[in-house]
Parts: sequence; C-alpha cells; structure tokens
Amino acid sequence: MSITTLDGSLHRGCGGRYALQTETVTMRISGMAAEVAREFYRCEKCGHENRTIDQRDVAEKSATEQIRVAHDLLAPKAIRQLRESLGLTIPQFAELCYGTPKGIVEGWEKGKYLQNRDADALIRGLLDRETLEKRAAKAGVTLPVIVDPAAAAAAADAALAPTA
Ligand SMILES: [Zn+2]
Repeated sequence: MSITTLDGSLHRGCGGRYALQTETVTMRISGMAAEVAREFYRCEKCGHENRTIDQRDVAEKSATEQIRVAHDLLAPKAIRQLRESLGLTIPQFAELCYGTPKGIVEGWEKGKYLQNRDADALIRGLLDRETLEKRAAKAGVTLPVIVDPAAAAAAADAALAPTA
C-alpha cells in the first residue's frame, strides 16, 4: 500500500511539516495533452516537494478522461462491446487493427492505455462490414458467422452510444 496522505507529516530532513498543495500541470497521454489540477505536498519550512503515487494516478486518470471527451474517443467498455458485437477474440481484433499488439488491445479495454485518434478510427472502422471483411482477408482472420445480424448491429450501436 502506498501512503495515502502526507498532510501534516514531518519532513525529517528539516523538521518542517508537509502541507497539501495543488498545481496545474499539462499531462500528455498517447500524444494528446490535458491540463489538470494535481495535488502534491510541500514542506512549509524548507519548500521540499513530495508527490505520492496516488496523486500521480488521480491526475493521470483525470487527464485521460478529459482527453477521451475532448477527442471523442471510445470508452474502454465501448471497445470491448464493439469487439464482442463482432464476435471477435482479442487476438483477432488486434490483427484487424493492423496487427496492434494483443496487450495493447487488452489495455484499451481495461482503460490502462488510451487509444489515439488514429487507433480510435481504426476500431470504429470495423463496424463497416466491407472494411471489416477487407481487413480480415488481409490479416488472414476468419470472421465468425453472424447468427443474428440485427442483434449484432444493435450491440454495435449500443457500444457507440455516448455514455451518460
Ligand atoms: Zn523541510
């Protein structure tokens, strides 16, 4: 476990106390930037600064969400729903995204990685049947037979619906 708060704790180097501060920082994720407020601790006596992993994670999450909204990128859940609506496994889906590593696709679906706009367009492109078939032929992926095309289309629509 990481330390969740240093507020009021002792800076052993000088005997001062750490106080919570907020700074505005520009964070870059997958080549896109967002300005976020990030908390950190500063020693009131000597000015020494300390940043916890939690503080960094919170700021990174906030930046990711800002960028996702600003660039209209698919949410992790939407990517998974889109893939499942096509009946594709993660390795197949990765192949159809021009051989994107499987671990990256897993990261997109778990919200560990944020796809850039090109990758987002690549993912959405798979909803077009013609594009899907072309890419499958090129990548040597056998597409599953769609038993119920209407249900698949509805699932795909749901995946693309803006999240509340
Ligand atoms: Zn100090």
